[in-house]
Amino acid sequence: MRLKDKTALVTGGARGIGREIALRLAREGANVVIWDINPESAKSTAKDIEALGVKADYAQTDVTKFNQVEESVNKILDNFQKLDILVNNAGITKDNLLLRMSEADWDAVINVNLKGTFNCTKAVSKVMLKQKSGKIVNIASIIGIIGNFGQANYAASKAGIIALTKTTAKELASRGICVNAVAPGFIQTEMTAKLPADIQQKLLAQIPLSRLGKPEDVANLCLFLASSESDYITGQTIIIDGGMVMA
Ligand code: NAP
Repeated sequence: MRLKDKTALVTGGARGIGREIALRLAREGANVVIWDINPESAKSTAKDIEALGVKADYAQTDVTKFNQVEESVNKILDNFQKLDILVNNAGITKDNLLLRMSEADWDAVINVNLKGTFNCTKAVSKVMLKQKSGKIVNIASIIGIIGNFGQANYAASKAGIIALTKTTAKELASRGICVNAVAPGFIQTEMTAKLPADIQQKLLAQIPLSRLGKPEDVANLCLFLASSESDYITGQTIIIDGGMVMA
């Protein structure tokens, strides 16, 4: 088991990619806490994690609220005494062309995706600095690298996450903390199911591996970045997109 006795926190871990990451880390022996704004689905995912034979917990924590985030980190320390892995996964989209995008939709996406990642990283890194170890994995997106029609808010938030990843990696490296980002392409979840069928077909035509990604594909990469197998990697953004974007 690659993560035996580690404690991991996955934000937005109740469903979609976050849920798959939480289960993948648990299968490797990690005790997993999930934060989500939906307590019912968070509770149900926590039950599925426990069924794998590790400890699980959940909290209705909104990543946009710094005080709530700090209180929830303290609760994790009360229950688990340490926190080894943070996966900043919580994210939303509110798409529209720039000229039609409302200020509220801009703010909402930046708040959850970028400020949420800042809030959780700040609160958790205090713990990791004392421990002198830790792994932080930020879920970015290829859209943060290449941009996309109708996604000015989302693209800016994910580009911001990539820059935040590099900066925190530099600031935390001397204490043995690795910070990396994962940039998925199009992954089969409720988020991409919302895309019209013709757009999905156009996207498929641009993917050399001829399929959308699975949440499990992303979870496997997160496992690698959360484990000691990636100890010499920090500040990187790893693209996982079936070959759609080749740098
Ligand atoms: P999803 O199915 O919509 O799941 C997102 C999760 O985050 C949900 O459980 C949601 O809770 C939770 N969440 C939303 N706002 C939150 C907040 N303020 N605080 C805490 N939790 C919150 O999305 P997904 O497709 O799995 O995406 C997960 C991550 O991967 C996101 O960062 C996304 O940008 C990124 N990503 C996805 C794709 C893709 O193709 N799907 C591609 C690239 C990157 P509720 O259930 O209550 O809404």
